[in-house]
Amino acid sequence: MAKLQVKYPGENEYLQAVQEVLDSIEDVYNQHPEFEQAKIVERMVEPDRIFTFRVTWTDDRGEVQTNLGYRIQFNSAIGPYKGGLRFHRAVTPSMLKFLGFEQTFKNALTTLPMGGAKGGSDFDPAGKSNNEIMRFCQAFMYELWQCIGPDQDIPAGDVGVGGREIGYMYGMYKKLARQYNTGVLTGKGGTWGGSILRPEATGFGALYFVEHVLKHAGKDIKGCRVALSGFGNVAWGAAIKATELGAKVVAISGPDGVCEIPEGITKDMIDYMLVMRASNRNKVQDMADMFPGKAVFTEGKKAWSVKCDIALPCAFQNELSEDDAKELVANGTWCVCEVSNMGCQPGAIHYLQHNGILFAPGKAVNAGGVATSGLEMTQNAGHISWSGKEVDDKLHFIMQSIHEQCVKYGVQPDGSIDYVKGANIAGFMKVATAMLEQGII
Ligand code: GLU
Repeated sequence: MAKLQVKYPGENEYLQAVQEVLDSIEDVYNQHPEFEQAKIVERMVEPDRIFTFRVTWTDDRGEVQTNLGYRIQFNSAIGPYKGGLRFHRAVTPSMLKFLGFEQTFKNALTTLPMGGAKGGSDFDPAGKSNNEIMRFCQAFMYELWQCIGPDQDIPAGDVGVGGREIGYMYGMYKKLARQYNTGVLTGKGGTWGGSILRPEATGFGALYFVEHVLKHAGKDIKGCRVALSGFGNVAWGAAIKATELGAKVVAISGPDGVCEIPEGITKDMIDYMLVMRASNRNKVQDMADMFPGKAVFTEGKKAWSVKCDIALPCAFQNELSEDDAKELVANGTWCVCEVSNMGCQPGAIHYLQHNGILFAPGKAVNAGGVATSGLEMTQNAGHISWSGKEVDDKLHFIMQSIHEQCVKYGVQPDGSIDYVKGANIAGFMKVATAMLEQGII
């Protein structure tokens, strides 16, 4: 860690993600001198390669705009590079390195053969027209297409990249490659190679994982109040499944504030989340304006100010601070599962774990998204499409298996589960063993 801090000063998200994993694996690593001899940790913390490129496009006023694009191919020990693309104004190499590093362990947990990658751009979708989004996606893919392929590197969505963006990027890829290579991207539309349930999968998988966490602790999700942050694709899927399982979603949020929904979110509201996302306005207040009396907007507040049993960060890294954790615990919250990648700050995790709150990290909880991308790749490779039930059954099985791996490596002397340790050690052991067996490369 000391060496990395000197080498990459200011890459805070990346250093935070590496620190968490190294803290978790220290004991196990020290029991395996062969890992130390092959310098597994020193190799694992560095991406295999980073592509950086200029993306120039023209906005609706005819003005030329330039953004930076990246693809970080992090680790390919257990399969081709796999991970999403994030379009957000705050994207930096540090952010994508943290995400690519996390992705490597997460993908290992899914039981599927996928390495880790991440990419994206500092392009800000907020306030952009549909045509601007299309032109940007086309310009982005014009640079990226030669770095990716179905057996090489398979991007997908992340914050700011959903089905629409994947569509525009796939269209451009197909034009450049002159091949109908569906397996090159996941999260595609249902009529052109996409998997049923991929849009819902991150949120659905997260709730299946929460069910396992609760069951293991002798609790039930029925009747629980759930607070979600964000209103994008992940929060949408989580809201559908939480409601279906008998919980009440009492809060969603946005960069502008929180919407409290005392009676629980309804189907109309869940559908409206999609309209809000497509509008690119990035304002959760729109929900309160659309459903007056049912959703109450408070400016500048987070979802964590709303009384709930279960808190699910579904938006962005470090969105839940130590102060937020204190507020949640004071309000009676007893379970926090990260659905966003690294959604909680280290101080928050420490506080939650020390107060006996059930806590599980993003790389386990949200792995259902990339796992279903893996299922999409399998369908594409076989030129077949599975039914919703087939995909859902497989997703159930994968989330159960991730929970089992966390229990195996995270069980504590008192019988409780340290899900952070469990997920990190399980992912590490799989990737480290593969690296060892493939020699010094
Ligand atoms: N962006 C998602 C994640 O963080 C999904 C990646 C994928 O489907 O490749 O896991």
